[in-house]
Amino acid sequence: MDITNLKTPCFILDEAELVRNIREFDTALHSKFNKSFIGYSVKTNALPYVLRLAKDNGCYAEVVSYHEYSLALKVGFDKRHIIYNGPLKSKSTFLQAVGDGALVNVENWREIEWLRDLPKGRRYGIGIRLNINISKISPEDAACDDDDSRFGFSFESGEFQQALKKISSIGNIDVVGLHSHREPKTRSVSFYRHVISYVANIVSQCQLHLDYWDLGGGFFGIMSGKPTYQQYVDGFYEALPTSLRDVTIVVEPGNAIVASAFDYRMEVIDVKHHDGKIYVCTDGTRNDVDPFFRKTDYFKDFVLTNPKERPLADLPQVISGLSCLEYDRLFQLPAGSVALTPGDIIVFHRVGAYTMALSPLFIHYFPNVYVSSPSGLLLIRKEWNENNFIIGNNY
Ligand SMILES: *Cc1c(COP(=O)(O)O)cnc(C)c1O
Repeated sequence: MDITNLKTPCFILDEAELVRNIREFDTALHSKFNKSFIGYSVKTNALPYVLRLAKDNGCYAEVVSYHEYSLALKVGFDKRHIIYNGPLKSKSTFLQAVGDGALVNVENWREIEWLRDLPKGRRYGIGIRLNINISKISPEDAACDDDDSRFGFSFESGEFQQALKKISSIGNIDVVGLHSHREPKTRSVSFYRHVISYVANIVSQCQLHLDYWDLGGGFFGIMSGKPTYQQYVDGFYEALPTSLRDVTIVVEPGNAIVASAFDYRMEVIDVKHHDGKIYVCTDGTRNDVDPFFRKTDYFKDFVLTNPKERPLADLPQVISGLSCLEYDRLFQLPAGSVALTPGDIIVFHRVGAYTMALSPLFIHYFPNVYVSSPSGLLLIRKEWNENNFIIGNNY
């Protein structure tokens, strides 16, 4: 298989890049913390091949639903190498995970009630998620005036303390973990330092004896001008009081591991002229690379047919997708750019995070996914067709 004749649209995973991201983050963590590990955020990109690479390179699976929990087990993660977060746990998978020694962070009251149903006669460790309001803890990193969170128990409201009391009243449950995930708009190092100072104070006031502290995700990947994994880790270390530097440090990166590892390729299929513009239609869709329709630009390249003798367009070019959504437009090229023509390929870089995991099955089903690996270019997910779509239906 050759990169120039892949069926478009398609994603391409760069295996070496994904592995490099994991190893560099892990090396940074271990430079400061003997006890530390990465929980790969499954929701960021749950492609089974990615999960298998994460597992083979020492990551735990960080899951936020009973579906993801079962998927992680199916892909082969050790049942103790799972971090189970979020409100979408089922009771049976919750009890199973706690019993199996996974890292389970309770998110709400019903999970605390479920703990009563664990077999008595042995002790269990549990983690708890703390509510983080970015505006209160690190206002310069807030996305708005009240950058609050739906998740975790709030110390300010007193519910965090009530939750601890309730857990301890059960008798055989120890709170051994703390989860403090928030995703600041800025992804700044100082945000994590502020969270650590805030949480450390609560750990001390509540006299918690932690085995692990899960700092969550929200980091930049390797990108010029952005903080490095090492700068984040140095920030954690400096902000942590000495008494807490022995606690196992967990991070849950998604974006920082997977974003840069994926490209997306689409091909120009047609060109039309009207309203003072050139409408360039491709066989891809914005649903695949920007499912929230919020990006203003992309890391992109063009692979042109006959690159040498290409005329320039005297009008702006609107690059659009194949779907019948009027707004499926990806970007515009100003007048004076190379005039795109059928057969040209547009390559989008750094599109591994919150893209294919969020694509709707609108008109066009999931595209082919290839991996470029030491064994060459291989198909790792075949394009979905009507048979995949119809599974489980009665009609
Ligand atoms: C989404 C999420 C992450 C990953 O966030 P990134 O920005 O992709 O690093 C980690 N932990 C939890 C609990 C999450 O919900």
